[in-house]
Amino acid sequence: MAQANGAQADNGLANNGQAGRAQAGRAQAGRAQAGRPRAAGSGGTATADVLVIGGGVIGLAVAWRTAQRGLTVILADPDPGRGASHAAAGMLTPVAEAAYAERELFELGRLSLRRYPDFAAELTDLTGTQVGFRQTGTLQVGYDADDMAMLGEHALLRESFGVTSQRLTARECRQAEPLLGPAIGGGLLVDDDASIDPRLLTSALLAAVKAAGVRHRRQRVVRLRADGDRARGAELADGTVIDAQQVVLSAGWASTAIAGLPPGVAPPIRPVKGQIVRLRATRATVGASSSPSLLNRTVRGLVQGSPVYLVPREDGELVLGATQEELGADLTVTAGGVWQLLRDARAIVPGITELEFAEAVAGLRPGTPDNAPVLGPSRLPGLVLATGHFRGGVLLAPVTADLIADFLVTGTVDQAAAPFRAQRFGRQEPACR
Ligand SMILES: Cc1cc2nc3c(=O)[nH]c(=O)nc-3n(C[C@H](O)[C@H](O)[C@H](O)COP(=O)(O)OP(=O)(O)OC[C@H]3O[C@@H](n4cnc5c(N)ncnc54)[C@H](O)[C@@H]3O)c2cc1C
Repeated sequence: MAQANGAQADNGLANNGQAGRAQAGRAQAGRAQAGRPRAAGSGGTATADVLVIGGGVIGLAVAWRTAQRGLTVILADPDPGRGASHAAAGMLTPVAEAAYAERELFELGRLSLRRYPDFAAELTDLTGTQVGFRQTGTLQVGYDADDMAMLGEHALLRESFGVTSQRLTARECRQAEPLLGPAIGGGLLVDDDASIDPRLLTSALLAAVKAAGVRHRRQRVVRLRADGDRARGAELADGTVIDAQQVVLSAGWASTAIAGLPPGVAPPIRPVKGQIVRLRATRATVGASSSPSLLNRTVRGLVQGSPVYLVPREDGELVLGATQEELGADLTVTAGGVWQLLRDARAIVPGITELEFAEAVAGLRPGTPDNAPVLGPSRLPGLVLATGHFRGGVLLAPVTADLIADFLVTGTVDQAAAPFRAQRFGRQEPACR
């Protein structure tokens, strides 16, 4: 899995180099035809090889990698980086998140994590923006005996996936994280998990897409254009028509709400609300220690069955998350949601109460029935899906961008993307909202 692109040539999905070259030739021909994206004022027409709908972490990463591969790209989003990506904690924790029946998702997450150090460094080199990438691991801790039993199950699951995590006693947990509360019963340490600041990441990606020549239209897509058998672009809210040979749908939870999607094409995606809290270091907390952070690494806790995570940033910010609520497209921050997060986080690290309360927000994760993203061609030729990343879009951005850019250029589905095709859901109808 580490060498997904290399594996493509071996497994027949690429259907040998000739087919790949033929597809690449078609893409080249398309490029020559489309040339540079043609600008359009309100109500005009603009042309590009690829239209990317949605500029969250997924659409931005896809647009960037696609433009780097030589295709002309228009990105349409009225408010890039402000969807779920704005709320996300930025944990890059495929091992700590591993769940039964999600083996393929776990492998995709690990593949993406392996690409993260280079992805983050390339973005920073290109744009001068730090993205807060830290590979400091995750400590998972349990509060009472039942929580410890659940951690034991997690350890067994990982072992069945071929990954071991270090089991720590309560004392060893406190050696790793001195500010853990007295009730912590023990934990599991995963060394290679990482984290990133998603807001810095989307800022860097916005600068990178610009540098790569992507034309950004700050407009909502109101309708997909299809001429019966093929996607041809889209109409924007200001009346502009985008004429594109390939359209990438990466509008997060709203991906299926776009008019003009023919029946059976939209993958089943629903909004899953998450509330999250940000705390900030104060002069007193910084003065009390050599580092502004209360924690050295991400800590995930189970508190009487209730999961909570605490993600520290370099500057002393501490992110507490997150609720998971099936309430449709509701972005209300509730007293109960914030209370639950503070209550559980305080049981793990009592010292959080000394920090400044900086923010509470809610975001909508794009959820699918099996919690995994939808990647690759749809039933409508010309329409490519890069959506449904649910809890892991930040983690999965590097690998998604590579896989989708590769498909747009070559027309072949890489082996790593094969389990995530929309067709796994059978016949799909556009979601009603
Ligand atoms: C509280 C919370 C915590 C999370 N924590 C993590 C984490 O720690 N790690 C992790 O990997 N993931 C995390 N996630 C999940 C992650 O945020 C998502 O999987 C990811 O942001 C999805 O990215 P996206 O680009 O598909 O969608 P979004 O970020 O939602 O972006 C979609 C974009 O599409 C645009 N759009 C919508 N409709 C249209 C239209 N008609 N025309 C044009 N543009 C449109 C929107 O303006 C938006 O910018 C978290 C999510 C939440 C809510």
